Amino acid sequence: MGTKTIIIIIVVFLLNLAFSETPDLVCSNCKQRNDIGNKFCSNCSESLDDEYSAWLLQRNEQKIHEEKFISGRVDPPRLFTIPTARVLGSKDISLMGGGAFGVAEVQQSFLGTIGMGLGNIAEVEFSSVGLINNISQGSPSVSTSAFKIQLIPEEMFGLKYFPTLAVSIRSSADWKDVQSDWRALNSNKAFYDYNEYTQRSECAVSSVGYNTRFTIMYGVATFPLGPVQIHSGLTLTDIRVKDMAVDYIWEEDNDVPEERQKNLIGGFAGFEIEYNPQTKLMVEVKTDSKHEYNLETKEIELSHTYVAIGGVRFFFTKWLSIDTGVLYQTNYTGIADSQIKLGLNLFMPTGNIPEYFKTSFNQKVRKE
Ligand SMILES: [Zn+2]
Repeated sequence: MGTKTIIIIIVVFLLNLAFSETPDLVCSNCKQRNDIGNKFCSNCSESLDDEYSAWLLQRNEQKIHEEKFISGRVDPPRLFTIPTARVLGSKDISLMGGGAFGVAEVQQSFLGTIGMGLGNIAEVEFSSVGLINNISQGSPSVSTSAFKIQLIPEEMFGLKYFPTLAVSIRSSADWKDVQSDWRALNSNKAFYDYNEYTQRSECAVSSVGYNTRFTIMYGVATFPLGPVQIHSGLTLTDIRVKDMAVDYIWEEDNDVPEERQKNLIGGFAGFEIEYNPQTKLMVEVKTDSKHEYNLETKEIELSHTYVAIGGVRFFFTKWLSIDTGVLYQTNYTGIADSQIKLGLNLFMPTGNIPEYFKTSFNQKVRKE
């Protein structure tokens, strides 16, 4: 309840800022607010020519300021979750954190990422990723490391609209131990029905556990079309499951230690639109792997679920931005399950610090 209220307040606050309007013409004679098209004050009929030229000047200054803001902005090399073909600036460090918050439960635990740019062409990243499954409440988080490199860097051949291409590999750091919890099993209809009807036949499931790890390889292309950027890519996911252990209430346990492997081919696409210098509209759709314990086969079935997120990225400063939107997954049963996605992006332009001091030092010298 508390978090939900805070999130709603933040969203309303951001939208308010995003839609702040241009100022009116204020008559210097009587302080009456006038429409921008007015030649004369609607109250005292004085000419508004001076006010209009002052307004134009102010707007031009604002435009220059906004262009500077955009060009100096550090944009995370991803939308909400899907990667783009951008990479972090050389030696720049990014810290990102966030999660998805639903009405029923916090489905994704707090997920964090730390990344560093290498030579304006590659980046390394350590992050925790949520695992979608049907045996535990929420998504257990898995530590991963990733490496991304651009094959076609930005503005190749000096062409502004040339697509950027990058490839990446992300791997879980270790085997992740996933354990069912009783509440999740009970609130799952299939499990509940199974256990209700099979109680007497003495094979009701009491717990499920297994170890898993994965590696995701992907290629992504970014198409810059002025204020709109489109990102699209293909993913190959190699998922391993081992040490499968199922406990029954009345029966003996069933342990399957051997490793199983599955390859899943998926994809993602999204776009971002520059709304104003501080706000971007972002929409993304992707496949995500889903682990589901199957009561018939008594195994973890690996398949795809589709995830869609739409919302905004708002820049507080050039280095601090917040992503907020609504998330929906096809394994949800209705829109009441949709979640608020919230993320914070902080950059340390460590690569630019020597440059920054140099320029401010030069400016000081020039002034004296
Ligand atoms: Zn007036």
